[in-house]
Amino acid sequence: MNVLLTGGAGFIGSNLVRWLLANRPEWRVVNLDKLTYAGNAENLADVVGHPRYRFVRGDVANGELVADLLATERIDAVMHLAAESHVDRSILTPAVFVETNVVGTQMLLEAARARGVARFLHVSTDEVYGSLGPTGYFTEETPLDPSSPYSASKAGSDLLALAYAHTFGMPVVVTRCSNNYGRYQFPEKLIPLMIANAIRDLPLPVYGDGRNVRDWIHVEDHCAGLVAALERGKAGEVYNFGASSERENIRIVEGVLDALGKPRSLITYVKDRPGHDRRYAIDAAKARRELGWAPRWTFEDGLADTVTWYREHRDWWERVISGEYLRYYEKQYGDR
Ligand code: NAD
Repeated sequence: MNVLLTGGAGFIGSNLVRWLLANRPEWRVVNLDKLTYAGNAENLADVVGHPRYRFVRGDVANGELVADLLATERIDAVMHLAAESHVDRSILTPAVFVETNVVGTQMLLEAARARGVARFLHVSTDEVYGSLGPTGYFTEETPLDPSSPYSASKAGSDLLALAYAHTFGMPVVVTRCSNNYGRYQFPEKLIPLMIANAIRDLPLPVYGDGRNVRDWIHVEDHCAGLVAALERGKAGEVYNFGASSERENIRIVEGVLDALGKPRSLITYVKDRPGHDRRYAIDAAKARRELGWAPRWTFEDGLADTVTWYREHRDWWERVISGEYLRYYEKQYGDR
């Protein structure tokens, strides 16, 4: 099977490429990625030259390129992860979120429809549901109520994907997952930012009162869920993924400091993000029941593994923070 994976140089995408090459020996993976600031070709340095892997630099919003790629690579299935993904950036520059997340997804859906792919997996997020009060869980029936330009653009692409299933009978499956953590996450996101700052004895900035709640899942468990949804999900259906690991942000930050043996005095409270959602929590019963999926990592083991990885890969995240990683691709492949 030939799979087009978009956004494979990002955090989840690069973990997914590695997961697929290791666990699906009959699959060939074509990774289409624009290499924005969030895409790091170095994340996949270890699979360059793999006989079942090809990297293509390009924009999902380029309909001609995408249609051509689907045909020349004889793509059977699409796993669509490419997106602008950082909420804070969406508050500063919303337009690029609409361009990539909404227009890019529509271009890809259209090309995949014309090609007649056997499966189209759209990777959405629990942020499309908006914010929860102190109790309750997001189910697949929870009405969409996004708060940020990021989540609104993801809701737009999520609904477009479902519309292609309903209107054109396309074999689309949508997944909505909670907050991921793990190896290769860009150090602007909460957990890697806190680890990188703590290692360097820099202040750890915590929004508001630090009591916002996120439901954490290890990226490998999300990858296994995405493959389960692609293989066993019903067309036109939505599947939530989460690992029942709700934590207040401040507890995560304290956990990172404790794991690194650093003092709590590094915590610095900063002005809250505008429109900051208070709580997310996922009910993943449908994925467990219908896909036979279950998370393997406990949050405590996953966080310990992640802290160790960042401690041992300081050169990786220092190149990300300095911007040096942006030159990696040109150095390896020339400017093409
Ligand atoms: P990321 O920002 O680390 O990676 C995004 C990748 O997409 C990058 O490699 C980037 O270069 C690429 N990209 C951006 N615009 C592109 C374009 N126009 N054309 C081609 N490639 C482009 O993001 P991530 O955290 O790995 O998230 C991947 C997907 O999973 C996103 O769709 C996101 O909404 C979704 N998701 C993320 C989480 C999470 O916690 N990180 C949770 C649920 C869902």
